[in-house]
Amino acid sequence: MKLPSLNLQILIGAIVGVVFGLYLGGLDAGALTKINSLYLAGIASNLFVDMLKMILIPLVFCSIAVGIANLRQHQQIHRVWIATLIFFVSSMAIAIALALIAGNYFKPGYGLHLTMFADAMQSFEAKQMPLREFVAQFLHGLFVNPFAALSQGNVLAVVVFALILGIALVLGGDRYKNIINLLQEFLELVMRIVGWVMYLAPIGITALLTKLIATQDLAMLSSLVKFVMVVVGTTLLHGVVVLPLILFMFTGKSPLWFWRGAREALVTAFATSSSSATLPVTLRCVTQHLHVKPEIAGFVVPLGATINMDGTALYEAAAALFIANLAGIDLNLTQQLIVFFTAMIAAIGAPGIPSAGMVTMVMVLQSVGLPAEAIAILLPIDRLLDTLRTTVNVQGDMVGSLVVQKLVGNTPLSIN
Ligand code: ASP
Repeated sequence: MKLPSLNLQILIGAIVGVVFGLYLGGLDAGALTKINSLYLAGIASNLFVDMLKMILIPLVFCSIAVGIANLRQHQQIHRVWIATLIFFVSSMAIAIALALIAGNYFKPGYGLHLTMFADAMQSFEAKQMPLREFVAQFLHGLFVNPFAALSQGNVLAVVVFALILGIALVLGGDRYKNIINLLQEFLELVMRIVGWVMYLAPIGITALLTKLIATQDLAMLSSLVKFVMVVVGTTLLHGVVVLPLILFMFTGKSPLWFWRGAREALVTAFATSSSSATLPVTLRCVTQHLHVKPEIAGFVVPLGATINMDGTALYEAAAALFIANLAGIDLNLTQQLIVFFTAMIAAIGAPGIPSAGMVTMVMVLQSVGLPAEAIAILLPIDRLLDTLRTTVNVQGDMVGSLVVQKLVGNTPLSIN
């Protein structure tokens, strides 16, 4: 019997996971089926995510170093840098603007009051994170002993070191061509292993979603329904309308074409809620299905997974407005501008792991004098909302690599 394509298997796995999760969620906590299924789902999902994480660091390291080295051969390095950073900042700015417009229009949280959530807030101690300290901490984390960064799985620091190494390799010219070849071959080897890990994706994704849906407390979701709808609505608007429109305007590619090539990564992002864990799948989709040149993908995608987070930026801004409404504070234009910039910094600084956005949100709230403990209200629903924002985060990286490739590829080479 011929199995359906991996793409289709992953999609089927996602649907089975959600349905089975809902079924288990309805069973008694002590039901044997529930206990055993969750135990098995826990093992399978951990194995899948562990394997992705195992391959992540060698992949990031090689793909960036090789990507930079090859870009230089094409003499396009400046243009790629500039196009990438402009794309990242603009797409996050649009996402935040959407959140602010929707938040001001729908006013979620109006009519509710912070005191209604006093219990939740009391049991939560928010660590202070002033903007200055946050920026200082972020900068301090950029340059780390590469061996420590590699061994601790510190993605941001590995990205930075690989960038520096890539630049050093190309400036050294022909002298280092053996090292470049070695890294190139190692990258191919790592991608081969990613291909093997992907065979487990259908089971891994079924297990992840089963576990997620079966263990969520959906009651809290209904008390915050308006906020959830505003966040989900604007995130979908960004992912289904804005990003595809940008893609179409710059590359002429249809959303359907993009979806077909990108869905392995999008579904993995949804199930894992981690841009970093999804990175091996994202790189595979972008290079193999969406036909982005490895040197562009190798640079844009890993960098994007650590700093380009449209969904997170949008969420940080939406949550700040929501908490302001709960606290009965009307944020004026200047305060909303502060939210705009701090939400972007918070998204850039958030690592690509589950619920990272919640940690950096403390800074956004504090920047306009909102109570950071109010985050406790959002914590119970965060894992569910994280699925969608991580998907859009990853989608932004993929669209970015296609747009950058188009922008760079179309203009004549002019450096030197
Ligand atoms: N989970 C998100 C990601 O990995 C980050 C966040 O919490 O917003 O992209």
